[in-house]
Amino acid sequence: MSTITFPAAVQVESHVPTVLGVPGQINLDYAATAPCASAAAEAVNAILPWYASVHRGAGALSQRCTLAYERARQTVGDFLGARAEDHVIFTRNTTDALNLLAAALPAGTTVVTFGGEHHANLLPWPGHPLRLPVPSSPAEAVRTLSAALAELRRGPNAPAHILVAVTGASNVTGEVWPVAELARIAHRHGARIALDAAQLAPHLPVDIGALDVDYVAISGHKLYAPFGAGVLAGRGDWLDAAEPYLRGGGATARVGAGTHDVVWNTGPARHEAGTPNLLGAVALAAVCAELQVADRDALRRDEDRLVARLRAGLASIPGVVELRTFGADAERVGIVSFAVAGRDSSDVAAELGREHNIGVRDGLFCAHPLAKRLLSEASARSGLTLPPTALRVSVGLGSTEADVDALISALR
Ligand code: PLP
Repeated sequence: MSTITFPAAVQVESHVPTVLGVPGQINLDYAATAPCASAAAEAVNAILPWYASVHRGAGALSQRCTLAYERARQTVGDFLGARAEDHVIFTRNTTDALNLLAAALPAGTTVVTFGGEHHANLLPWPGHPLRLPVPSSPAEAVRTLSAALAELRRGPNAPAHILVAVTGASNVTGEVWPVAELARIAHRHGARIALDAAQLAPHLPVDIGALDVDYVAISGHKLYAPFGAGVLAGRGDWLDAAEPYLRGGGATARVGAGTHDVVWNTGPARHEAGTPNLLGAVALAAVCAELQVADRDALRRDEDRLVARLRAGLASIPGVVELRTFGADAERVGIVSFAVAGRDSSDVAAELGREHNIGVRDGLFCAHPLAKRLLSEASARSGLTLPPTALRVSVGLGSTEADVDALISALR
């Protein structure tokens, strides 16, 4: 009898994705747009010689591009833990993905959000969305949603469908929302739930099945890929029943001579009319593939250490007050917002850029209701008069202790 010998187990070193940057420039504005991963740049360079039409040509180049595009869809779907019945639709970004979903909602859907959402998850919803007050803890978010859904379901005017739309991590405070619990509550009341994972996915694994959410939206440019590619992934039934988000070539199965003689595709193609963004899809997929083999627990620990250093540094500077919703010890990703008493935030940001080569964000971060409220709470908590806008520092892959220390000493 022949015996088969197996090679000794290979020790695979934990893989840390690298990002591109410019020496001397300190980027602490990842939450707006993260630097591009080397893997994304390599994937784009690899496909460029093959550059040709996607889904529209019979030549070898075109076939290769079509394959690359569909493989990218599969990779991004796997990264997000998409289920068999989910569609993975390429969009321009999270804003586009949530607007697509908003346009695809069946008639009679009431959308429920919290007041702390980014404008992309606050403004697209049709009809009369219900905006719940910003909760002061994750537990309060769960309780508030539960009560609101019970109320909505009661009575003769209960909506035919309910969609709860929540963020996974706040772009203002970095605080992580209790998505799995909110999904459980939503489903218990027969509602669906959409997750705005624009700020969660770059920092923590997002698994549609494990979180049991119905839809997820992400932006490639916040996930170490270039601008211009995002994704809406989620249940196909509403998406297949909806009018196409864009009308044109690629979305149609058949077009006749009559003005309305059109049979639209089902599946992702229904909402992806026009020549697709192959480079964006391939780059995003390359990052997703890389993050999937990375040791994300180790990355998370590194980021936690950086955030702790950042917050301690900020707390040590007189007049600096942090913005927060859930409290000092809440779970958070690498985003911290604050204001400096007596200093205009845009002046501080400009000075950091001009004199220290440090890029941060200032303003109200496309979450005006939340940022204004947190500024006034921070002012009340500290007893200091704060400016009307804030500063935001955000970190991720490639950020270092030296970056954080440079910021703290510049602020001092
Ligand atoms: N949702 C959140 C939580 C965000 O932080 C952002 C962008 O900052 C968006 C949605 C919108 O993303 P995009 O501008 O890529 O569409």
